[in-house]
Amino acid sequence: MVTENDYGQPVFYVDGEELEAFLKSELTESKGYGYEWENEKVTHLHFRPITHAFGNVKTVSFAKHNGRHFEDAALKIDVKEDGTPSIEGNEITVIPSRENLYKRNKGLLEVDILANKRVLIIGLGSGGSPIAVELAKAGVGQFALADFDRVELHNLSRHICTINDLGRLKTDAVADAIMGKNPYAVVDKLPLDINKNQDILEDEIAKADVVMCCTDNNQSRFITSQLLVKHGKVGIFGRAITRAEGGDVFIARPGKPCYFCLLGSDWFDQSAEEITNEASARRAGRIPAYVSAEDAEAFVQVGLGADIEPIANMMVKLALVELSKGTDSGITSLEDEFKANYYIWANRRERQYANWGSFHNTDGMPTIMRWYGIDISKDDNCAVCGKAEALETDDSFMESLKSMGSDNFSDLSLDDITTSES
Ligand SMILES: [Zn+2]
Repeated sequence: MVTENDYGQPVFYVDGEELEAFLKSELTESKGYGYEWENEKVTHLHFRPITHAFGNVKTVSFAKHNGRHFEDAALKIDVKEDGTPSIEGNEITVIPSRENLYKRNKGLLEVDILANKRVLIIGLGSGGSPIAVELAKAGVGQFALADFDRVELHNLSRHICTINDLGRLKTDAVADAIMGKNPYAVVDKLPLDINKNQDILEDEIAKADVVMCCTDNNQSRFITSQLLVKHGKVGIFGRAITRAEGGDVFIARPGKPCYFCLLGSDWFDQSAEEITNEASARRAGRIPAYVSAEDAEAFVQVGLGADIEPIANMMVKLALVELSKGTDSGITSLEDEFKANYYIWANRRERQYANWGSFHNTDGMPTIMRWYGIDISKDDNCAVCGKAEALETDDSFMESLKSMGSDNFSDLSLDDITTSES
């Protein structure tokens, strides 16, 4: 059993940038706030109140060497001339400032360059939410987050958000998760349906360096794809298949095949896509209207978060390579590896992956837990990037999208997958 005593000496942290601002100011003393994790002897000290916190809040007094403490403060912090803070002679850890927070990534990533890159993430579910946090951990400094859903109980098993986030807009909860990793990140929140707010989406795509499309319907992918082509932007699309038996990732680069070239190819299997949300699947026409709410439950079949993570991870790597292009980063070698535009992954040899090779005896077949890259070629008649006139998102086009599907994963061999850059 852990007793209170096992926590040892109390520990304190103070925000480096707030402390620096105090040192530079004319002030000799300042009031503050101490947020203590109940019974854990851990206290985070701030000069400004934080917007949301769990734990006991204590009043704090910060004083420079020539300053005087506020007598009624519960915690009295002395700040030496060299900027070192202490409490009753005990050390306080200073949380590094902006320039130093992600210096461990230096050498591998150009942290300063990433800090100025902007990523738009459309859809903050089991794919989009871990992508947001991973990119923040890598040092990406600017985000736009689009999703109109709230965090619900059924999300918890596959989402980065916690039980404390229930009911919150995903844009708010994921923004906080990003800020928890990088408090200097700039996060713009778009809690709206992009299918109905295409003008706003267009502005955001025009501003973004990379767009991550993590939605679960082809309408949003179509709209996004059109705008990516129009603005010459890089877009990365990811999907999970049925119960996350596998998934796929597509990267649309300017002037190269777009997502709808993929959709028109033999590789794309719309019918196998995972249905995670009844309302969304109904909107996309993937659950027929005559199916009752009760029976619709059977359509909603989700996989494990652990099976989604590889897909999200691949999307993050592709994004970091794109964002780091032209810099002398430690991941430059990946530019030569990620030449294909379509990547497929299987978690289990089930359904469309049933005929894949065994992990230990591949027999010339693809196997689970390995990525395979494929070159999808440009479709000259593509409705989005081809020579034909671009289509509007009218109902008949959306109907034709809904009926698209093929089953080419089932008899796939490695010969099909070995690709060459055209
Ligand atoms: Zn196209």
